[in-house]
Amino acid sequence: MSTKLFNSIIVGPIRSRRLGTSLGINLLPQNSKWCNYECVYCECGWRTPLPAPLALPSCQEVQEQLEQKLQALQAAHTLPDVITFSGNGEPTMHPQFAEIMGQVLRLRNQYAPNTRVCVLTNATLIGKPEVREALQKTDITMLKLDAGNEAMLQTINQPQMPTSIEKLLSDMQHFGSRLVIQTMFLRGTIDGKPVDNTQSDEVETWLHCIERLHPIEVVLYTLDRETPAEHLEKINLATLESIAQRVRALGIIAKTYE
Ligand code: SF4
Repeated sequence: MSTKLFNSIIVGPIRSRRLGTSLGINLLPQNSKWCNYECVYCECGWRTPLPAPLALPSCQEVQEQLEQKLQALQAAHTLPDVITFSGNGEPTMHPQFAEIMGQVLRLRNQYAPNTRVCVLTNATLIGKPEVREALQKTDITMLKLDAGNEAMLQTINQPQMPTSIEKLLSDMQHFGSRLVIQTMFLRGTIDGKPVDNTQSDEVETWLHCIERLHPIEVVLYTLDRETPAEHLEKINLATLESIAQRVRALGIIAKTYE
């Protein structure tokens, strides 16, 4: 399979299905994945042994490289729609995440005031006040919720640290009023066992979670690239739309991306 590991701190701009033109910020090790999930669909591939010592970009490196890039994009009149924290793993694991967020917002305000700042996160660390407060300063933070029950969480996301659906939901409920949930829908087999989070009982438990959280928006999407787990397949747009309609019936905006 092909994986998408970045070898730089600043990535792009690239075209994103969900966000438009996106300038990426990779706070994770270069060419290595660092995450506390091991999602079966992860575009970074499976985890591999990390380099020792773990080389994370410093606040100063992020600031300098982002400033240079924004200056160049401003001069070329090609500022992106969004600056997105994503990269080779879970961005909130960076120990200086909050400080870096402050710098990124300052540079955005200086060079690209019409560009939004977005974080894609698996939500496992939003219970930490400093992480939650940094995320609340963004224009959009998308929190991952691919499962409505413990078994599906373990199957799809394979957490590598102690967590549970209940802990995730409880932390999300305390996140604040601008909650946006993103959910990957897929089906296939993993280690020979069938997996399908579009099955009616799986959708039912997931919808109960969505109803409880009542986010301002839910983003439903499906596979776009090869996955580390073999034998997984995309969900078609009609199926995504039928689930989205049930979200909309709860009075919540739902968007689908095939
Ligand atoms: S949370 Fe994101 S980076 Fe981490 S394993 Fe899942 S898809 Fe990959």
